[in-house]
Amino acid sequence: MVPISAVSTVYKILYAFPKYFFPQEMASSVTEINYDKFWEQGIRGLIFDIDNTLATFDIALPDEQTTAFLRGLEKKGFAICFLSNNSKKRVKLFSEGLGYPHIWRAQKPRRSGLRRAMDILGLDKSQVVLIGDQIFTDCLAGNRAGVYTVLTAPINTRDEWQVKLKRFPEKLVLRAIRQAKL
Ligand SMILES: [Mg+2]
Repeated sequence: MVPISAVSTVYKILYAFPKYFFPQEMASSVTEINYDKFWEQGIRGLIFDIDNTLATFDIALPDEQTTAFLRGLEKKGFAICFLSNNSKKRVKLFSEGLGYPHIWRAQKPRRSGLRRAMDILGLDKSQVVLIGDQIFTDCLAGNRAGVYTVLTAPINTRDEWQVKLKRFPEKLVLRAIRQAKL
């Protein structure tokens, strides 16, 4: 159980700084995002979280479908980078076959990893989009850095224990987002 004090802290932060938690856009999966719209808006780089955004945490290598999806984006002209809080071993293994730049132990919601990703891509914050499944890492990092952020529904409801802890307060934020849009 999440202690009630933690819940009330989340609520306090949420209502004081709602813009930091809300994604600019939500999608049911990475394939349901309108990338052509992004291209028209001048977006040239896509920065993806890996775990539960592109693959479940226990899937070591991208499957055929994910590979084809990413290659399709590359064909459209987008530069791709992976930004993950997971280990070097996990992130390297997942990314190397694809040949995309990748940052492990990104420490999202800190901005440093995201800034590094933009440096690698040679793009600024108005030219990239961050796509990830977690409010307290991906959305928060993106918003703090001024990067447009898309929140995807997690691929699988199974999470690593550290992530599980964040899912309950995340539900509160998602509820607040829904209410704000009414
Ligand atoms: Mg994730």
